[in-house]
Amino acid sequence: MYYLNPIQLYEFLERKNIHHFHHANSVRTACTFIENKGLFSRGSIERRGLVQTTQSSDAIDKEFDVWNDIFLDIVDLHGYFPRQNYYGPVCFVLDTKLLLDDKLPNICITKDNPIYWNEEMSDEEKYYSSVDEYINNFDIILKEHRLHSQMFTIHNIDGRIPLKKYLIKIILDNPRLKIGEIKLLEKSKQKLVESLNASGISDEILEIRKCQNCFCKDNYFNQVEVSELEKLFL
Ligand SMILES: [Zn+2]
Repeated sequence: MYYLNPIQLYEFLERKNIHHFHHANSVRTACTFIENKGLFSRGSIERRGLVQTTQSSDAIDKEFDVWNDIFLDIVDLHGYFPRQNYYGPVCFVLDTKLLLDDKLPNICITKDNPIYWNEEMSDEEKYYSSVDEYINNFDIILKEHRLHSQMFTIHNIDGRIPLKKYLIKIILDNPRLKIGEIKLLEKSKQKLVESLNASGISDEILEIRKCQNCFCKDNYFNQVEVSELEKLFL
């Protein structure tokens, strides 16, 4: 495992004008984060007996030792691609200054999404071994539109990324759909606002996503099963 120098990483992202991390999840898991005032790893939520929705990558996460990691992206995948984020309709936008927090150690960057890893791969194939290696690859990754595969992880974190300190905003997708009489946007917004209020975080940080030239609305309508919509939004 390679832990990267967080200060060097922060300074590089600043030079590239990248000031935010993004983390997408379901409404239910997002409410758990908000009510517990932080972003947690999936393992940590499980150990605390808190509620989270399942993800198709859960088994792989355990196999490849990323179950106790928090995943962050330097791009909002919903927008980087003209489609919804598959991990869920709630996007937490966080300040990259969290890299400078010495309570949040063990920063790693993957070379690909762990769902594409295999048992034969070495740490060197899975992860960048230094910030310099990441910097040297950055422009080509940018050109090839592969920033989504370079995932920042906080490895083996038992604590949380504190929301009060680093949360900038929360963006919620609007699928413009109803299940029976339940309007998904209305219901999910209400749940998030309740959680924010209960945690003493202003609900003004909650934004409803406005998309242009994006397939999310069509995809939610045509490609996402009702049971999956319920899991993501309710
Ligand atoms: Zn969209």
